Amino acid sequence: MVEHEMMVKTICFKTLRELFGLDNDFNIIAGPCAIESKEQMESVAKILKKNAVVFLRGGAYKPRTSPYDFQGLGLDGLKILDDVRKCYNLLTVTEILDPRDVELGMRYTDIIQIGSRNMQNYSLLKEVGKSNHPVLLKRGMMATLQEFLYAAEYLAYEGNERIILCERGIRTFENGIRNMLDIAGIATIKNETSLSVIADLSHSLGRKDIIKLVAKCLVPLCNGIMVEIHPDPKNALSDSQQQLNFDEFTDVVNVIQMVLDRNK
Ligand code: PEP
Ligand code: MN
Repeated sequence: MVEHEMMVKTICFKTLRELFGLDNDFNIIAGPCAIESKEQMESVAKILKKNAVVFLRGGAYKPRTSPYDFQGLGLDGLKILDDVRKCYNLLTVTEILDPRDVELGMRYTDIIQIGSRNMQNYSLLKEVGKSNHPVLLKRGMMATLQEFLYAAEYLAYEGNERIILCERGIRTFENGIRNMLDIAGIATIKNETSLSVIADLSHSLGRKDIIKLVAKCLVPLCNGIMVEIHPDPKNALSDSQQQLNFDEFTDVVNVIQMVLDRNK
């Protein structure tokens, strides 16, 4: 590989807070795994507002391991997300899987997510790079930090500096946890770049019982967390075992607020 100066390491101060003119350095992105209905998204939006959380997530195009599983509502889901963000004045994050849908992503969401499985989909990276739309890039579940940064480099190379990196756990031999959240990896990226780094606690841990404890540790380390929440997790159409109900979510928000207040 020819060594180049990495553009992604020279991007200055494009943190989540700066990108969207927010008050807080630590932000929470929450919402269901998949957008299932307008009612579901409205109930989620209401609980976000109640907890002063500004970022709503929800997948319209779901990358599922099995083709028989729920694949998402597609464009109808994007339109629901768009209606809800306008109605509740929220910023939204949703995954785009196909380079041909990047324009839809630009129209219907504030942040385009490139998921773990697509971290090295170079056509998608180039298309989102050209769009200059804020992008949340997840680390591939089998990607080294160097490969993660090179994926971000594709975005920067095409001119898009509005990059938020998301550590979502990597595969290891441990099977009690869905994926291993790489805290040292987050610290390394924070040292080497000035990009926002957030941690996805739902797809990394894959279980709810340790989210609060892990969230507490992350406050001083990174720029935020992503968590999946659902009005009725047991009956969610995807990732039902890891989504928080609204009370559990409120608990997590309170714990984070407590740490933030203590560190003031
Ligand atoms: C998601 O955020 O909905 C998702 C599928 O995550 P990941 O790409 O990290 O598996
Ligand atoms: Mn999910």
